[in-house]
Amino acid sequence: MYRSWLEVSLEQIAANFRAIRKVVGPSITVMPVVKADAYRHGAVEVSRTLENAGARWLAVSNAGEGIALRESGITARILVMADFLPANRPLFLDYDLTPAIHSLEGIRDYDTLAVRAGKRAPFHLKLDTGMGRLGTRATASEILDTLSACRAARLEGLMSHFASAPNYTSPQTDEQIATFAAVLQHLRNAGVNPEFHHLCSTVPIAYSRREAWGNLVRPGHAIYGYVSPAKGDAPPCVLDVKPALVWKATVLEVKDVPAGAAIGYGGIHTTAKPSRIAILGAGYADGYPHRLSNKGRVLVKGQTVPIIGAVSMDVTTIDVTGIDIAPGDPVVLLGESIDAQQIARVAGTISYSVLCGISSRVARLYV
Ligand SMILES: *Cc1c(COP(=O)(O)O)cnc(C)c1O
Repeated sequence: MYRSWLEVSLEQIAANFRAIRKVVGPSITVMPVVKADAYRHGAVEVSRTLENAGARWLAVSNAGEGIALRESGITARILVMADFLPANRPLFLDYDLTPAIHSLEGIRDYDTLAVRAGKRAPFHLKLDTGMGRLGTRATASEILDTLSACRAARLEGLMSHFASAPNYTSPQTDEQIATFAAVLQHLRNAGVNPEFHHLCSTVPIAYSRREAWGNLVRPGHAIYGYVSPAKGDAPPCVLDVKPALVWKATVLEVKDVPAGAAIGYGGIHTTAKPSRIAILGAGYADGYPHRLSNKGRVLVKGQTVPIIGAVSMDVTTIDVTGIDIAPGDPVVLLGESIDAQQIARVAGTISYSVLCGISSRVARLYV
């Protein structure tokens, strides 16, 4: 019996992958993003499921995540998007991982390593088209000069990432698309035509920004059933995906307290009337946001009840007055009518952070 656990539907993950494939069509490769332990759904199990559903590419954030997948038998191509640290570069060749490279120096170094190892070394080059984060700001001619000196490293993909994709009141996404297209065209004019060109995470897929799709897309959030709301005059969301994870906690204790009882750290809640409270086996050390203190809600037997007092490290207290509940009963923290976006709104954060924040102390079961 667990204090707190996740129930993950791999069938729903596969269904979400198929829904994305259906929207983008057969000519566009779908590369699911399984970084951060597949947004806590379990990178190995999720990757196996996606591979069985036909995914030929997966994306992770760092070399360690890629190696863990290789060691558990994943054979799909793996793009490592945010880890080209000098000390980790040889690992890409050893484990057949494909790096996203962010600088011309990185290309030159990778080529040297690959020549020395006698290996083919495909890589994707990330452009900073306006995000102002990872990615090279080199010009197309500087890129061409660097590529022409390569002997083993090969430009397989050109990629970029959007800063403001859900914001339809901002011109930033269109500007980034134009910057990307100009560099790609310049490379093609010089006879360099990378097999893949890609810019899109979930949002530009979901709101049909087709001119940004390129021939590969990198959905993460949508694989797990989420699409962030858009701002401004956005087209309708065309992705039919559903959350695949339910987060539960067990009731540790139920008790009756009189009116005027202070509840938890700081006594930030005082009962207005005689109340029945339940103490749950999940707190902020499990990743349940502290900011839900006195604000969040959970589901008890389908009924919404409030969190009272502070969410503490290991436990959370709820008001269950009038509800038939006993120690050992399960309570839903996230799932059914409470999704990660609602929790995020109440906690003043984003749904990504709610999912990725679920700690490794929370058990994970596949249903
Ligand atoms: C995380 C990430 C994605 C996936 O983003 P979602 O919004 O979860 O779909 C795609 N591309 C890059 C570069 C990322 O870092």
